[in-house]
Amino acid sequence: MNCGFEVRNASSEEELLEILKLHADKAHKMTSIPSDVIEKIKQNIQKK
Ligand SMILES: [Zn+2]
Repeated sequence: MNCGFEVRNASSEEELLEILKLHADKAHKMTSIPSDVIEKIKQNIQKK
């Protein structure tokens, strides 16, 4: 998301995607997340 939303507490990629979907739905009314956004976020969690 380009809103600055970050997921810090996800323990797995699956959990992260769940949190992200909820956020996208509630905050942006997006029912699906573009794959490039998902890729970016996956890269972010690997940094820890
Ligand atoms: Zn957002």
